[in-house]
Order: sequence, then structure tokens, then C-alpha cells
Amino acid sequence: MGQTTKYSHILNHIKSLFPNQDFIPLHEPRFVGNEKRYVADAIDSTFVSSVGAYVNRFEEMMQDITGAKYAIATVNGTAALHMALIVAGVTQGDEVLSQDLTFIATANAISYIGAKPVFLDVDRKTLGLSAEKLEAFLKEFGQKAEGATFNKKTGNRIAACVPMHSFGFPCEVDRIAAICQEWNIPLVEDAAESLGSYYKGKHTGGFGLLGTFSFNGNKTVTCGGGGAIVTNDERIAKLAKHLTTQAKTPHAWEFNHDYIGYNYRMPNLNAALACAQLEQLNAFVENKRELAENYTKFFKGVEGVEYIIEEPDAKANYWLNAVLLNDRKERDAFLTELNANGVMSRPVWTLMHKLPMFQDCQLGDLSISNWLEERLVNIPSSVRI
Ligand SMILES: *Cc1c(COP(=O)(O)O)cnc(C)c1O
Repeated sequence: MGQTTKYSHILNHIKSLFPNQDFIPLHEPRFVGNEKRYVADAIDSTFVSSVGAYVNRFEEMMQDITGAKYAIATVNGTAALHMALIVAGVTQGDEVLSQDLTFIATANAISYIGAKPVFLDVDRKTLGLSAEKLEAFLKEFGQKAEGATFNKKTGNRIAACVPMHSFGFPCEVDRIAAICQEWNIPLVEDAAESLGSYYKGKHTGGFGLLGTFSFNGNKTVTCGGGGAIVTNDERIAKLAKHLTTQAKTPHAWEFNHDYIGYNYRMPNLNAALACAQLEQLNAFVENKRELAENYTKFFKGVEGVEYIIEEPDAKANYWLNAVLLNDRKERDAFLTELNANGVMSRPVWTLMHKLPMFQDCQLGDLSISNWLEERLVNIPSSVRI
């Protein structure tokens, strides 16, 4: 402390928010509810694997929380997204429209199918897929035929659109849904980061054909590893459940399978943890929103640092708090000073189009993504107890 450096006022403020910690991580899990009781109960029941009461209860809780008719538990969020794209009908050689500024899992899930991502820009305010740029891309390259949309440039079918709600800030998903509907493109929301976030009063993940969530250790609530798919479409829900459970046809003793299935079902042991965490979702989100309010007030008085807040139509879970620095140089100085002093901070993901695997993907205008990549930093965001 003592010594005044460029960002010492920010450092001291964050340290005061998370007192008595030598190191303040970006996001720590909190196990302050029924976690131990439910996990012990799952062990005692011997149902620790892909069948059990907790995994069914988890799916019911996810239906209640998101308002979706169906929820399917998966081993993680990446598997949820992979499966959602499969049941949405994406196949090898198709193209999927997504955003350049996202976590790698979004682009990986598309690639597992042998489909190709097309990276479009994000919105300056929501940090999620830009509805405006999506529309502009489709007007330039989209061609409707056979009840679907094809890319004029490549001839390939555009088989899905995957916006992502970055850091829990809902993107303009109603506009995106309307555009997708007009072009007959299935909408799959990567809502991995936005459990507990709403757009115009409706939970994220429920605006299109499918939505997916993650329960990884760094997310708002966690079960170690886990994911979920939500949908209102009964056929899609049944297919997703079937394919995530090895596509085994129901029978008392026979082992028969009618598709190439996946071992993607969340184990009951993890689901026990997930149920206990979901019970605390509202409290965690309220706690995080209080932290966000504190950051909002604090950063108003800080020159050269813009703290990102939700848009008027959105209620964000504030999974990861984000600030914008003036340029890359100031960003690097900020990152260096905070990390050197026990306050974890991290730049946004490297843009997808810069990674070696995605060099030959088609790109839209990426001016906002490029601008944000130079400036955006995440700061400590854990639930405070
Ligand atoms: C965390 C995350 C995922 C995947 O989650 P896992 O459960 O770690 O597989 C997918 N997309 C985004 C945007 C994420 O942040």
C-alpha cells in the first residue's frame, strides 16, 4: 500500500471489497448451502453416475429458472453446445454465424461437427453479437433457397446462428431472433455465462430453438463440471436426451442403439452439487449485482477507466465485471499493476479469427471486436460472503 502508483486507488478499492485475502481471484466458487449434504446423499444412494434423482431434479430446476419447457443435463457447457448444434440440424460442411469475441468453446463446438464458423462483430454496448452487423452480413451474403439460407460467397448452407451473452450481459437477442426467423436460420444461444440474466424480462437462452449453459468452476454457479441444454421443442428435447445418453433404445435388459450417441449426460454426483448451487442462484446474482453497483459508483469517479453496465432492457447477472482502458498500453499497465499486487485481472479472449485453427474462416466487419480486444479487462467478481 503506502506508495501511490497509477492504479493504486483502484487496487485499494478492490482490496477493500474483498478483505482479508492475500490474493483476490477473478471468480471463486462459493459452497455455502446444501452442497455437502446433497453430495453425501448422492454417494450414500450409490447413484453417482448418469442415472439418479439429482440429475432429474437439476433438469426440473433449470426448467423453472429459465422458463423453458425442457432442460437436458450435460457433462459440460461445451458438450451442451455441441449437442444443441447437432439437434438443430447442423452437419458437416455447413456454416454457423457467431461472434469473433467469445470463449473458444463456442467456435470449437461448431468445428466438432465439421461445420465452419463465420465470425461477426459484437455490439459496443452489449459485448454480444451485433444484430445490426448480423443483418448486414445476411443482406450481403445470404440467399434464401429450399426453406434455408445459403452463403452466396461459398455456396454453403448457413445452418445456425450462435450469439453469446458475454460476461452475463444479454445481447439484443430479440432482434437477433427476428433476423434469424426471417432468414430461416435456427438460433442457438450460448448462454454459458448468463445464467440468471434476463432480456426484456425473459431469461437468456430461451429466445430461439435452443440455449446452452455451463456449470464450470468459474461460472456464477458450479457443479465442478456440467452443462445444460434448454428448448421448448419436444422433438428436439427428446432427441437431445437420447443422443446425450449413448442413443440407447429403452429396454429392460437389451443393449440396442439407433444412432451414434454421446456419453454426455451429467453424472448424478455433479447434479447433487448443481442442485445445491441452483438453490442459491438468486442470492448469488443479487450479491453480484450489489458488487456491480459498488463498482458503478466507484468507477464514475475514475478517469480513463470505463466500467461496463447492463443496458436498460437487460438484467445482467454480472458474472464477470469488465472495464475498458484507453488503449492497449494503458490496459497492459493496468494488468501488470493489479496482477503484481494480488488482484487478479485478465484481458478479454484473443479474438477467434486470430487463432491458427480459424485462419480461413469468413469474417464480417470486426471493428468493435478489434477495438474491445485492445481495451477490455475483467476484474474480481466473486460472490462476497
Ligand atoms: C464456459 C463457457 C463455455 C463452455 O463451458 P464448459 O462447461 O467449460 O465446457 C462455452 N461458451 C462460453 C462462452 C463459456 O464462457
